[in-house]
Amino acid sequence: MSERRAECSCGRLRVVCRGEAAKVSICHCNACRRRTGSAFGMSAFYLRGQLAIEGESRLFRRDSDNGHPVDFHFCPSCGSTVYWEPSRKPDMIGVGVGAFADPSFPMPDQSVSDDLRHAWIAFPENMPSRGSG
Ligand SMILES: [Zn+2]
Ligand SMILES: [Zn+2]
Repeated sequence: MSERRAECSCGRLRVVCRGEAAKVSICHCNACRRRTGSAFGMSAFYLRGQLAIEGESRLFRRDSDNGHPVDFHFCPSCGSTVYWEPSRKPDMIGVGVGAFADPSFPMPDQSVSDDLRHAWIAFPENMPSRGSG
């Protein structure tokens, strides 16, 4: 079974992921922008049993308008967010795709909050998109 490793900038907080992600999403919402410092966020969602988490993390709970907060786990040394627990999907854990630093990581399954996308960003036509809300 394939195994991928995600880690923070300093390498102290790591997630070992066994098998393929259940879903890979790009999100253009402003909360994802602020989390990443980039134009959009990219998440790989795994079942909890697929992951082994190593190292210390601190938690930031982000409330959301839909009443489903997300608990983000970040490295106390370097501040990188590596994984998060969406209360809306308690059996899943999201992992930041950038934390894998792997250009061969599979293409996203979807682009969400697409109505907020920067106008210059274009994705392949076979990648589904949907708006926010
Ligand atoms: Zn770190
Ligand atoms: Zn988002």
